[in-house]
Formats: sequence, structure tokens, C-alpha cells
Amino acid sequence: MTDRFAPPPATGCRNTPVLKERGQHEVFCGLTGIVWLHRKMQDAFFLVVGSRTCAHLLQSAAGVMIFAEPRFATAILEETDLAGLADAQEELDRVVHELLARRPDIRQLFLVGSCPSEVIKLDLAKAAERLSAAHAPRVRVLNYSGSGIETTFTQGEDACLAAMVPVLPKTEARELLLVGALPDVVEEQALSLLDAIGVGPVRVLPAQTKDSEYGIGPNTVFALTQPFLGDTHAELTRRGARHIPAPMPFGEEGTTRFLEAIAAEFGIGPEVVARVTESPRARAREAVRKVAEPLWGKRVFFFPDSQLEIPLARFLARECGMEPVEVGTPFLHREIMGPELDLLPEGPRLSEGQDVDKQLARVREDRPDLTVCGLGLANPLEAEGLATKWAIELVFTPVHFYEQAADLASLFARPLRRSRALAFEEA
Ligand code: SF4
Repeated sequence: MTDRFAPPPATGCRNTPVLKERGQHEVFCGLTGIVWLHRKMQDAFFLVVGSRTCAHLLQSAAGVMIFAEPRFATAILEETDLAGLADAQEELDRVVHELLARRPDIRQLFLVGSCPSEVIKLDLAKAAERLSAAHAPRVRVLNYSGSGIETTFTQGEDACLAAMVPVLPKTEARELLLVGALPDVVEEQALSLLDAIGVGPVRVLPAQTKDSEYGIGPNTVFALTQPFLGDTHAELTRRGARHIPAPMPFGEEGTTRFLEAIAAEFGIGPEVVARVTESPRARAREAVRKVAEPLWGKRVFFFPDSQLEIPLARFLARECGMEPVEVGTPFLHREIMGPELDLLPEGPRLSEGQDVDKQLARVREDRPDLTVCGLGLANPLEAEGLATKWAIELVFTPVHFYEQAADLASLFARPLRRSRALAFEEA
């Protein structure tokens, strides 16, 4: 490791006791992931088996994409379908046959479960098996759950990718798999950095199309670009692939340490990474410095929402001078988060899960300068005079790797600038 950054804190937060909470939680469900997944997988279609609520959620979250042939839809189950589950299966088969006949561009179809009780009773795994057999080899049908009972909004991507891993072919090839749906422009930057460092061959999950897929095997090593991919991590490990533990590629430091960990796995030293990344690192450092000024010395509180909270707290503490007060996360995956916890300076309360009333009481007592939370909590907290940042924006905005480091800092700086301007106007 080189000395470009402040050294990791003496003990970090790996052994900090974690407050475990199990109570009412306020987050979007995993259906939300369809909004960014359908852009990545160009031959995929997401058929949500759900209620009118699910259809409304998808339409409002993804309303901007109605111009093109849509690649997601909701098959609505009415309460009356409860009476005849056999009919519901037949109806689902009919909808899928019609869809695939009309849309020869679809090569992979995801049946996405939701939470109405009538959907829970439908066996979507069996339906996927039956429909796969009927439409193979042209179309592969898989299923996963995006239900709000089982998933928070980023877990939809995890469930989707985890469903894909078991059907990938087997290989003995020594390859790096980059896991996580990044915007195309960011993915290109990552691939070009890895190529310049000398790491390869590199594959990405999800692949753009079914035909561009590859195998998984004992010589596959994988790096996660998103912290919420715990189930995908488990599925890849089950297939014999090995995880490269590393901080997430957020900010200059996270990106460099991420690349260094991968390079080390391929026998390439940090001096090569330092040489290749010299200019993007300098650009990132300068760009973050310019936008992070309102963040220095400010206190930040994270409600559990996206599972991005710990890496973001690390970035804000180490590169933007913020003080995390509480870092809540819906799940704390120790193996994935270990390198992040080592870098996160001691001090913040760590919490896992949610009991929203207790957390609201804590945030009111702490009065942080910035609160990162879901949409449902932001308005009431703003009304109480607390500046907030919507966690969901962090998933919809390109924020990974060097060129996006300043955009990431800006997302947090903007609400502080706004509240400063409001305070100035009121004075
Ligand atoms: Fe609502 Fe559940 Fe449908 Fe999500 S899956 S929109 S939480 S009913």
C-alpha cells in the first residue's frame, strides 16, 4: 500500500458494537432495481407479477422510459385470482407466450415476485422452469423476488444477479468478474483502468446480452462494485469463484484501494496502479476539493436504506472532512464491508436493520448537519429544520470511480448549500 492517503485509523470500526434493530422500516421495495437493470441488460424483459400498486410504483419510478418499446411490465393479479391458483398459472403462461411471440428481441425474461398474498402463493420458480423449458433455447426464464417484505430497494439487483449465477456455464479460465450494474460510461472507465494496469480478461455481471455471457469456475475471481450484493456473493462462492475483498470504488481513495486489491490478486504491485492512475487521481482530488468545502467539519447521520451507507460514510469522513454520527445500514455483510470498516474512523454509532421511531428519536437528539434517508422521511425531517439527502439519488446517479468522485461529493454538498442559502435569506 502506498502513502497517498491518510493511514487507516488505528482500529477502524471493524470491532465496533453494532446496534441491531428490528422494527418498522421505511424503504422502497426491490422492484425499484428494474429501473436501472433493464437499461443494462439489453435483451432482458422484467415481468412483475404483482398488484396495481406495483404497476404504479414502476410507472412512476420509470415513467421517463415510455418512449421506447418498454422492457418491463406488470401482470396484475386480482384478489379473485386467489380462488383459482391453477388459473393464475395458466394466465401467466398465456401472458408470457403472447409477450415472447410479439417480442423476438427478448432473450431473457425475469418473472419478478412481489408482496400481495396472492402472488406469494404462486410458485414463480416452478413457472420459470416450465416456461424456460417451453421457450428454450431462444429465451431463458428466471425468477426472483422484488417484494417489499423481503427486499429493500437495492436488494432487487442483488436478487436478480443471484438468480443469473447458477445458470452460467462452467469454466476453468482465470478471469476477473466485475459484479454490479454500473452505468455504461462508468463501466467503460473501470474496464479501461483495469486494462491499463494489466488485469485481464475481465467480464462483467450483468452482461449486456445473454449471448455475451461467460462461464464461472474455480479460477474466477470477483470484485463487487456495489456493497449490496450479498446473495450474489454467496451464489458466486457456491460456484467456486473467489471474492477479492476491497473498499468500494467511491472517491479517490476507495477507487485506488479497489484497483490495488485487484492488481495484487493478479500479481501487479501498487506502483503500477499509482503510475496508471496518477492523472485521474489528481483530477479527482482537485475536483472533490472544489465542491466539498461546505462539508468540512459537518456532522452526517445515515438512516438504513441502500446498503451504500458504510462506504459513503468512509468517503465523506476521509475525503470530505465530515463526521459521521450514526451510520445505519439495512444489512451488515461482514466480509464485504470488512475493508470499509477498517477505513472508517472510530466514533459513529453503527446500526443494522431499522426501528424507525427509535432512529427518529436519535436523529432529533443528534441534530446532524445532514441526514441521508429515504424519500418518506425527508420531508418531515426538513420540516423540522434538518437538511436531508435522498438516498435513492445515490443509486440513480453515476458516482463510482475517479471521474465521478466530485459528483458524489456534490450530492451531499448541495443540500447544505441550499440550507445555508435559506438561512441567509431568512436572516
Ligand atoms: Fe408495494 Fe410490494 Fe408491489 Fe413493492 S412489491 S410496489 S412493496 S406491493
